[in-house]
Amino acid sequence: MGRKEENVKYATTIMKTPEFVRNIGTAAHIDHGKTTFSDNLIAGAGMMSEDLAGKQCVLDFDEQEAARGITINAASASMVHHFEGKSYLINLIDTPGHVDFGGDVTRAMRALDGVFILCCAVEGIMPQTETVIRQALKERVKPMLFINKVDRMIVEQQVTKEMMIERFSKLIATFNEKIKANLPAPLNKEWQVSIQDGTVAFGSAYNNWAISAPFMKKSGISFSDIFDYCSKEGGQKELAHKSPLHEVALEMAIRHIQPPTLAQKVRIPIIWKGDLESKVGKELMNCDASGDVVLMVTKIIMDKHAGEVAVGRLFSGTIQKGQTLYVAGQPAPQRVQTVALMVGADRIAIDDAKAGNIVAVTGLKDAIAGSTVSSMIDMEPFEKMAHYSEPVVTEAI
Ligand code: GDP
Repeated sequence: MGRKEENVKYATTIMKTPEFVRNIGTAAHIDHGKTTFSDNLIAGAGMMSEDLAGKQCVLDFDEQEAARGITINAASASMVHHFEGKSYLINLIDTPGHVDFGGDVTRAMRALDGVFILCCAVEGIMPQTETVIRQALKERVKPMLFINKVDRMIVEQQVTKEMMIERFSKLIATFNEKIKANLPAPLNKEWQVSIQDGTVAFGSAYNNWAISAPFMKKSGISFSDIFDYCSKEGGQKELAHKSPLHEVALEMAIRHIQPPTLAQKVRIPIIWKGDLESKVGKELMNCDASGDVVLMVTKIIMDKHAGEVAVGRLFSGTIQKGQTLYVAGQPAPQRVQTVALMVGADRIAIDDAKAGNIVAVTGLKDAIAGSTVSSMIDMEPFEKMAHYSEPVVTEAI
């Protein structure tokens, strides 16, 4: 069995235990390296050739996207990562990277519990970096900071170690100011990022390496070593073997992002305005696989063979083939034809999926991005999503 097939087998097992699931995404100002970063994760998890990471975009499979060179659609990819003797399923949603697609960014955010905000070390925090930070916080999606293109800082800009530390400190301070300004207490303190606790990492997505404080400790690689590796011929390749980006980033997500079972307790009161004391309210809060089905559709993909595929976050219940579901606001019952896990552009058919996962479902004819789909005909839909751009615009779904 190939590595990809083996991972698919693992993935379909782990998804049954939401404590080992992490729903994460990436968001950034355009060209800060979001797509390259996502490719690293997918390649590292054995879902594509490692040599191609940074050079080929698995998530950019849409022709329209490829033509424009920007990620319009938030595709999703599930991957397996083994950490400290346990196996985790990481569902990665690639959020669109252009400010014009603010609506899609927010929709993708709703499916996530954590997000890597990528920031180019050379350009620093740009207007759209601020926008995506605000979007994440508004949805109570926990941000982690990844400072990218550090190779350019060292090789092209020839900054000293001291200059680099100073620039990183400023960048992190600005990032934390945004968190402080956009969250209520105590989360505005709890969600502050820092190098020390490992919620900040830095590296080069193009050269497939990254480093964080916990990884420095583990690997023995120091700040000065990074400079040495970047300055010598073939050094970055060596660094990519010693401190691969995917390991640093996936470990970060596993440690710092809560599983859906815990994250939903923070997120549901913000994103759903129904009665939290009702039966379904409790099921949503508890990410209850035995409860009513509640799926929030984040995206519709057109498939040549299967037709419309609804991709979304299952917040409660277990979704399975043949089930009758309702799209909120539409009286006609819908029949689930297939349930699948997304692996890059591939859909892997599964019998059923439990609350906490990101799934692809066919048969939901009336669903659109933003729809709430449920086994209950009168399900209170998720709150309309606020789309942050400049100026702030609120769009009804
Ligand atoms: P996105 O718009 O945020 O998805 O950015 P991309 O991943 O498409 O990257 C934009 C450009 O920056 C591409 O030409 C990448 O090859 C390049 N790039 C991405 N990460 C790095 C990095 O760490 N170092 C360098 N030097 N270039 C990078």
